[in-house]
Amino acid sequence: MRGFGVYSIGNVGWIEKEAPACGPLDAIVRPTILAPCSSDCHIAHGASGAYKNRILGHESVGIVVEVGAMVKNFKPGDYVVVPCSTPDWLKPNVQNFISNAHDETPMSSFKFVFKKDGVFAERYHVNLADANLVLLPEGVSPEAALMTVDMMSTGFHGVELANIGFGDTVVVIGIGPVGLMAVAGAALSGAGRIIAVGTRVNCVKAAYAYGATDVISYKDGDIAEQVRERTKGGADRVIIAGGNHETFTQAVAMTREMGTIANVNFFDAHETIQLPVVLWGLGMANKDIRGGFCPGGAKRIEKLLNLIAAGRIDPTKIISHTFNGFNTIPEAYALMDSKSPDLIKPIVVCSDLT
Ligand code: NDP
Ligand code: ZN
Repeated sequence: MRGFGVYSIGNVGWIEKEAPACGPLDAIVRPTILAPCSSDCHIAHGASGAYKNRILGHESVGIVVEVGAMVKNFKPGDYVVVPCSTPDWLKPNVQNFISNAHDETPMSSFKFVFKKDGVFAERYHVNLADANLVLLPEGVSPEAALMTVDMMSTGFHGVELANIGFGDTVVVIGIGPVGLMAVAGAALSGAGRIIAVGTRVNCVKAAYAYGATDVISYKDGDIAEQVRERTKGGADRVIIAGGNHETFTQAVAMTREMGTIANVNFFDAHETIQLPVVLWGLGMANKDIRGGFCPGGAKRIEKLLNLIAAGRIDPTKIISHTFNGFNTIPEAYALMDSKSPDLIKPIVVCSDLT
């Protein structure tokens, strides 16, 4: 079997592997559409450790090829949506309601790439199929469904962490595909003013289309100052979906007392966050700092699919490039890695895979 992955830090290419084996509760899936994610690039560049000969990819919808003997709800031929995070629901952390994103240790529900080969493969393995797969619902296109498995789930998780109230002033830092979904989620959650931060022209257009009221650029000076000036004191809720350790400090600085800073950005393991305590109100300002990984599993994705089916959101506006053929994965990945000025989110349609 062939897959596109990372040989060693910074080196990517095609890898030949044995096809994965199916456990009794699991499924083997063939991707029909998939998408590279910024996190695939971070991982390939070593942000979360050194992976060797690991197939990348965690965003896909596909067709079930095989199911284990104990799988009840799926059969070969089913068209399925596959969450990027596939918890082991038998683990105590999930049963203790700690979070389905951390079934054993932080982010350990993220099995693709972190624990095993990912979805940029002719076949991939999904653990606990009955709890982690969703049938593609009628009325939802495979492209729209593909955007739920990580982009919507993560962007909306930023919104969940931010605890937005009706009329709140919300800043979304970063308007790549994740931040754009956070803008859309903030609008759905009743935000008043939504100030988005980013520069790529298509992303700026999409931010307004999803409900941003203002867009500012981090290239025009300190965004904390820009936000404080525009809001006359600061924002109620700030969602971080891009930038670096300095962005985090700016996020705290632009948040007013009783406000929330909600991070879904993937920081590089080598970064250090500096936080002058005065920006955090000497620890007395009730500024709540939160960060988290996108929840996974079938129910999470079903609910996001419900939003699409009900016409509340069209996540396909974030798809900027469509590549045709499994063989084009390297091109789509390279585009994601280079962040070309016209990029939002590339997808790959694997119509040549059988
Ligand atoms: P993109 O790279 O497409 O977007 C990043 C955004 O941040 C762009 O709008 C960019 O602006 C902006 N930005 C860059 N530098 C700065 C800066 N210094 N200050 C402010 N804004 C800046 O990323 P994605 O949307 O694909 O992903 C966002 C993050 O979410 C990534 O770190 C990704 O790894 C992470 N992620 C986290 C997950 C989770 O569960 N927590 C899951 C999936 C992704 P410009 O328009 O100029 O490019
Ligand atoms: Zn991702």
